Amino acid sequence: MMTVDGLDGAEAVVSGGGSGIGAAVVRLLERSGANVHVADLSGDPPVDVTDRGTLDALASRIRADHGGLDVLVNAAGILTQNLPVDDMPADDFRRNYEVNVIGTVNACQAFGPLLRARCGAVVNVASQAALVSLPQQAAYTAAKGAVTALTRSLAIDWAEHGVRANAVAPGFTLTPMTAAFFENEDFTRAATRRIPLGRILDADEVAAAIVFLASPLASAITGIVLPVDGGWTAGEPALPW
Ligand code: NAP
Repeated sequence: MMTVDGLDGAEAVVSGGGSGIGAAVVRLLERSGANVHVADLSGDPPVDVTDRGTLDALASRIRADHGGLDVLVNAAGILTQNLPVDDMPADDFRRNYEVNVIGTVNACQAFGPLLRARCGAVVNVASQAALVSLPQQAAYTAAKGAVTALTRSLAIDWAEHGVRANAVAPGFTLTPMTAAFFENEDFTRAATRRIPLGRILDADEVAAAIVFLASPLASAITGIVLPVDGGWTAGEPALPW
């Protein structure tokens, strides 16, 4: 089983760690020797990234028990229904921003002092949609674009404290968020044809890139957005010339 070096004894928080990509990150961090705190709506106790109080309560417990934090992974996220931009209600934009963007800001603010205490690392989960637009996903796409810009701001503001901040931009990955899409054979066939590597990704493959960026192996990397997308953002797959 794969592990990542340099994380033995590390203290980590993973928002959205109860499902999909976040859960895969939790498994890999734990196998690599980290002590992981899951911050998820379905966690015990539940943590809602849109509710700063629940994040502050977790931060207080970690401060009391461990004194600092080495890793923060912001994987909590939502995807709202697909609609043409003209029909998209403003509430759709607000909800996407509230969870995907402000939820990430809330977690960074709540855990920032603990990360500074350990010169820790943040990894935000954006999307390929932040780099190459997907049809009928304006609210999600705009929110994930904001996550990538936020990541660069964090990297600059926190560099003087020795805290790194990076993002990954996953492509289509089989998780509970996307399972319904892949039940549609036409969708799966079209998406697979568009992915140069020719397949939907596994959450463990995305987790590997996230945990690498969170680890001391990436000690010189900050402010990047790393596509983990089977080549989707590199361009169209081969043409039959
Ligand atoms: P997922 O299986 O639905 O996992 C998302 C997790 O976030 C769930 O456990 C969910 O809890 C939790 N969550 C949602 N809102 C929350 C909140 N307000 N506070 C705390 N936790 C909350 O989806 P996923 O595919 O693993 O997605 C993980 C991240 O990757 C998301 O940011 C997503 O946008 C991004 N992403 C996914 C793909 C893909 O193809 N799967 C591609 C690009 C980017 P509940 O289940 O209880 O609601």
